Amino acid sequence: MSKRLLVLGGGESGRGVALLAKANGYAVFVSDAAQLSEDAVAELTKHKIGFEQGGHGANILEGVDVIVKSPGIPWGVPLVASAKTKGIRVVGEMEFCAPYRKGKVIGITGSNGKTTTTLLLGHLLKTAGINVAVGGNVGVSYARLLVDQADADWFVLELSSYQLEDIEAFHVEIGMVLNLSPDHLDRYNNSFDAYAAAKYNLRKTQVVGSTWLQAGDKLSLKHVAKLPTSELANVRQVAMPASYESGQAVTPTQGYSLADTSLAGPHNAANASFALTAAELAGVAPKVLAKALLTFENAPHRLERIGFVKGVEYVNDSKATNLDAVDKALRSFSKPIVWIVGGTDKGNDYNMLMPLVKAHVKGVIALGLDNTKIENAFSFYGDRFKNTSSLDKAIEEACTIAEPDDVVLLSPACASFDLFKNYIDRGDQFRAAVKAMPDFRETLQHTL
Ligand code: ADP
Repeated sequence: MSKRLLVLGGGESGRGVALLAKANGYAVFVSDAAQLSEDAVAELTKHKIGFEQGGHGANILEGVDVIVKSPGIPWGVPLVASAKTKGIRVVGEMEFCAPYRKGKVIGITGSNGKTTTTLLLGHLLKTAGINVAVGGNVGVSYARLLVDQADADWFVLELSSYQLEDIEAFHVEIGMVLNLSPDHLDRYNNSFDAYAAAKYNLRKTQVVGSTWLQAGDKLSLKHVAKLPTSELANVRQVAMPASYESGQAVTPTQGYSLADTSLAGPHNAANASFALTAAELAGVAPKVLAKALLTFENAPHRLERIGFVKGVEYVNDSKATNLDAVDKALRSFSKPIVWIVGGTDKGNDYNMLMPLVKAHVKGVIALGLDNTKIENAFSFYGDRFKNTSSLDKAIEEACTIAEPDDVVLLSPACASFDLFKNYIDRGDQFRAAVKAMPDFRETLQHTL
């Protein structure tokens, strides 16, 4: 009889697992505490996979052999806890996928820069003619890639800390933690060490012949000694943003110019250094890589240059949902910044940004349902501090402060759920509103 698999969560990760499991002979059922999207319902129906939504049935655990939990569901939820007391094996997506691995795997994690680095590395390998599958925590889930692109030679995966919490058999040929800064600490009992340890599980599971790209910044090196490790991997150190003011990426063997690329700012030089080091290890020649860099377009909402209105540039950094990402954004401009900040607070201490804000920001627009913390931190800006609770109002106030040659930067440091569906919705609305302004003109050049 087929083994019975229960998938908790019907998003991209859960549906990928359902398809992979079905293809490998499991009897699969998907259960989601929330409502599924129309696409999800259509896909599960098409593949004749049973599902329930809006809650879990009372007997849902009966006869179940394995549960795969989507990354967004914490390990402590009652259903997972009672499955464990019944002796049912509960694993995350990556661990479930481990026995089905194909090709060689590159795993990319870190607090910031995961998507940029993953898409860049995918682009570099693809441009070099390599058969590469790109996804994980961005775009297509790993499980789905193993179904749809099973013949790929390389799998480039963005991995979140949630996806790495339980890995043992899942392992990567090339792994990296790009950087560490506090984020998602709510999931880790406010323990930075626990959050960092989840990321470094990626290193712990490496096997002989694999390579670990170690971030060379002080914070990472300070923490690395007490983080999970494997003695089996080769370690290569990758230097960090402070070394890159000149728009250069550096691998252990080469320097690469980032002029004329979309990779602006020292943080992107660090991201590029990781991607290029991995691409060199995958066997791509530096000449090919230097050329491929020129055709990379970063995903939207990451320091995305929208265009100009009356000499003021508008930049969409909606994906900057923590202070470190904002820190990097503020360092990426030499022009004065009118900063739109706010949303659902994740425990920010704005004092951490104070010297940078004072040096770069000429006006602060708080955009959120509850702006108290931001107001407490930045009300000293006087009439250059504005309190708003709608995007239109925020842009209107920004226009009253910004002058030609300034930048209006949406870099919120917060989640978006108070006023928007998600960060994409927030960035899309911002872009649309800017483009609708009279006198709008597109940005032509890449560099900030
Ligand atoms: P992630 O997938 O880890 O969230 P992204 O590439 O989507 O990372 O970028 C998220 C935000 O972080 C953006 O605002 C981006 O400009 C910023 N960012 C990108 N790379 C770095 C980095 N190396 N250090 C700090 N911030 C970064």
